[in-house]
Amino acid sequence: MTAPVSVGYIGGFGRSGSTLLELTLGSLRGLCALGELVHLWERGLRDNQRCGCGQPFHDCQFWRDIGDRAFGGWSEVDVAEVLALKAAVDRNRFVPLLLRTRLPSSRQHAVRRYTDLYVAIYRAAAAMTGATVVLDSSKHVSLAACLRWNPDVDLRLVHVVRDSPGVAYSWGKQVRRPEISDRVQYMPQYSAPQVAGTWLAHNSMFEAVAARGTPRLLVRYEDFAAGPRATLRRITSYLDLPGDTVPPGPEHELPLHRNHTVAGNPLRFTTGNVRVRTDDAWRSALPPSRRRLVAAVTWPLRRHYGYPA
Ligand SMILES: [Zn+2]
Repeated sequence: MTAPVSVGYIGGFGRSGSTLLELTLGSLRGLCALGELVHLWERGLRDNQRCGCGQPFHDCQFWRDIGDRAFGGWSEVDVAEVLALKAAVDRNRFVPLLLRTRLPSSRQHAVRRYTDLYVAIYRAAAAMTGATVVLDSSKHVSLAACLRWNPDVDLRLVHVVRDSPGVAYSWGKQVRRPEISDRVQYMPQYSAPQVAGTWLAHNSMFEAVAARGTPRLLVRYEDFAAGPRATLRRITSYLDLPGDTVPPGPEHELPLHRNHTVAGNPLRFTTGNVRVRTDDAWRSALPPSRRRLVAAVTWPLRRHYGYPA
């Protein structure tokens, strides 16, 4: 019997500060950040987009070694088959089914086969780096709901939330994708009402996953920005890492090491010391009517998370 692999799964709705959280965590001893693994199959393996180290995926030695160790080389992985499995089980519309007390027998095989691919990567990364906990910041609820069925994963959710008007403001901005170097491509933009509905839906689903017994630590982006080291200590304690995992230092200054994250926010190409501070530009930039609308749509969970009315 091999012990389950410990996975810190960073979940939550996009633009909630999860990339910064993952990178600062991943720069600590005993942790290894892999990025948004759910996108590895398309963006890394198929499209050869840039790893966090700056190299195209197939040129990155770290990922070559992972592929060799996990699968005997990436050429052994059939991307079309993985994407078909993903389409069959890893969708938010399947979350109610994935949260049942018993997984329907028609899905058991696909969920196991699909999540075993992730387990192979987690194990390879842990073995190669010596990390006690690997971080997957895929964010999606559906992958977390799939992984809860795999007995080879000790799944710990780190559920990141950020106040909904701030998230809505962020999704309205135009941001270029730096991992695509051969052309200019931007991240998608969404309207405030779209963001409000999706923020509520995604966070509600994470509440449901936690209610079914998967360990979950709620982390508010605003608390992380106000006390980054204190928040990292809270998370590393939750992940059962040693008490001295977060070294002493200036509260708001944290090192970002070179990383091999497969997908995620452009921030992952940054290294060196970063100053973590509250980004509340939305308070002046988001029109009051939009702010009121977003707050109204999301009010039940905003209140639950302790955001002021
Ligand atoms: Zn790399």
